[in-house]
Amino acid sequence: MISNLSGRGRSLLILSTAFSLGVSLLGQATSAEAPSPPAIESPSRTAPAQSPIAELNTGPRTRLRGNWVGRQPVSPSLKIVVMAGHADSQGMHGSGTPGAAVDQRGEAPMDPRMRDELFWNRKVRDAVVALSKQKGLNIIGYDPGALSIAKASDPRTNWSVARRLSRQGNYILEIHFDAYSPHGYGSGLIPALNRNLNRVDESLALSFGRFPRLFRGGLGGPRRGISILEIGMLEGILEANLRNPKTREATIQAIALQVTDALMLGVRGKTSSNPPPGVVDNAPLTSNPQTNSEVE
Ligand SMILES: [Zn+2]
Repeated sequence: MISNLSGRGRSLLILSTAFSLGVSLLGQATSAEAPSPPAIESPSRTAPAQSPIAELNTGPRTRLRGNWVGRQPVSPSLKIVVMAGHADSQGMHGSGTPGAAVDQRGEAPMDPRMRDELFWNRKVRDAVVALSKQKGLNIIGYDPGALSIAKASDPRTNWSVARRLSRQGNYILEIHFDAYSPHGYGSGLIPALNRNLNRVDESLALSFGRFPRLFRGGLGGPRRGISILEIGMLEGILEANLRNPKTREATIQAIALQVTDALMLGVRGKTSSNPPPGVVDNAPLTSNPQTNSEVE
């Protein structure tokens, strides 16, 4: 869900002591030695038997379309930082969508501490980071360590960290799910506003859809260097497959694979891992037959 963010709505100051885990850059260490992040649950061994999903269905692409093109090449070692949208904004304006199941059908939230959107944003963030690392991308996750941080200028917030790391040339990707119909727009990328649009923006837009660059006049996140990825509206088959314990993990992994493939294409020009060491792959994105027709 995209908040209209001239401010993050600080009027509700929520006690965040219980969640004050401090600033942590997840996965800074190599994957072999990285500790499990404390605030994020890992898949349980006792999880229900998983059913495969026939095909990932993230619903319609954004009904508002952009016509920008990301042309700037990026380094094969581009550092990517993945965030969960609304990770520090619970209990205040801009906390994300509750999703159709909770808001329209009165089902229980996945976690009473947070909107369902954040619950899924975090799951997808972690799955994307894990899978992309396996494929050799230079990628980490970031979590603010507190669910409610009153001041956007606090150095722990997604916005503060994004502004700092974006200036250093990192690619900041923030995972979101959009609101349900008729409020949401659909899946797609709203790219950062503080730099030239690059091949990673282009690849994600080809895979998920393309919002106007100045969506709602330019959102707070993109102004600070965040590319917002709306996975899809939190409703229908997508939400049902996420909520169903039997299809949950497969759905999260399928989403992570789609994001990772798009990142690989943007960074390396191909989705397979293990590129020749030291070789810059300049294969054009349009060599991917699945996305050919979508170049704008
Ligand atoms: Zn959102």
